[in-house]
Amino acid sequence: MPVLTDRYGRRFPYLRLSVIPACNFRCTYCLPKGYHAAPGMAAPLDLPEIARLLRGFAAVGMHKLRITGGEPSVRHDLTDVLRTAAAVPGVRKLAMTTNGTLLSRRLNEWMDAGLNAINVSVDSLDPARFARITGHDRLADILDGIDMAVAAGLPAVKLNAVLLRDVNDRELPAWLDYLRDRPIGLRFIELMQTGDNLGFFREHHVRAELLEAQLQASGWQALPRAADAGPAREYQHADYAGRIGIIAPYSKDFCGGCNRLRVTATGDLRLCLFGEFGIPLRPLLQADEQLDELVRAIGGQLVRKEETHHLHQGRTGITPHLASTGG
Ligand code: SAM
Ligand code: SF4
Repeated sequence: MPVLTDRYGRRFPYLRLSVIPACNFRCTYCLPKGYHAAPGMAAPLDLPEIARLLRGFAAVGMHKLRITGGEPSVRHDLTDVLRTAAAVPGVRKLAMTTNGTLLSRRLNEWMDAGLNAINVSVDSLDPARFARITGHDRLADILDGIDMAVAAGLPAVKLNAVLLRDVNDRELPAWLDYLRDRPIGLRFIELMQTGDNLGFFREHHVRAELLEAQLQASGWQALPRAADAGPAREYQHADYAGRIGIIAPYSKDFCGGCNRLRVTATGDLRLCLFGEFGIPLRPLLQADEQLDELVRAIGGQLVRKEETHHLHQGRTGITPHLASTGG
């Protein structure tokens, strides 16, 4: 199956699909006032629309799918969404990014539906700090859910932690204790500026390279990059079962490793998280017979994908916060 390739030679076997813009958390860097629906906003794609969308992407070589949001588990038919996605021929890796609030309760159901990889956002291992960042005192239950996922043999369990200056940027020792015996991949993500968070960004942005230097100084070794690896730089250490990845969107060449496209909950194709436009695919998801037209639309739009984002110039595109696009 030929994989969608852009004019800079980047290949796109990976789709991130937001299934709902709503979220139950109030993360300080994302939705500090909680989620409020924009007036007149369309409903998220329904199951038949999702199935058609995914068949279209599978026809242009997509084999890895991540379900995201907002918070995907806020969607009542999430298990059906997962089952629908797993049934699309060609989808080999079915991942989800979640804040983990329903993980301990729904893990088995989600795995039965076909989920085979999960990323759980855990910005701090300190319960009080976690509650201050997310607005919810739920850390213990979320960590239990993560241990359950490892014990259940979910093939890939990863954690995401957004680095925040003067909030959680001195927690490396606690994280190292956590990773010593757990085969979990932890990703430190550098805070990104979005349309709504400029003041917060200026106060709390810290370069991920600082933490990366600490890792290197304590004997963590960079893993060779696979040809189709995403933008994370991966590290391992012989004394630890876990691995650490660094996602540094402000680093040089970050966009050169881009391997993903995004579709919002209402069916807009986004060529870049920080792009200036969305391309409405929903009109092409109304009947199975539209598959060829959908495939042409996806391929035809790819020429508009730019070489890099413009975050260094403070241009965040049409993304007010990552919950709106599917981070
Ligand atoms: N609600 C789910 C969650 O939090 O995992 C999925 C959606 S959330 C938008 C996806 C990821 O984006 C999370 O790991 C979150 O921490 C991260 N994120 C959100 N806003 C961000 C920002 N401004 N900079 C960097 N990462 C961000
Ligand atoms: Fe919700 Fe995820 Fe945004 Fe936090 S980062 S507010 S959990 S969408």
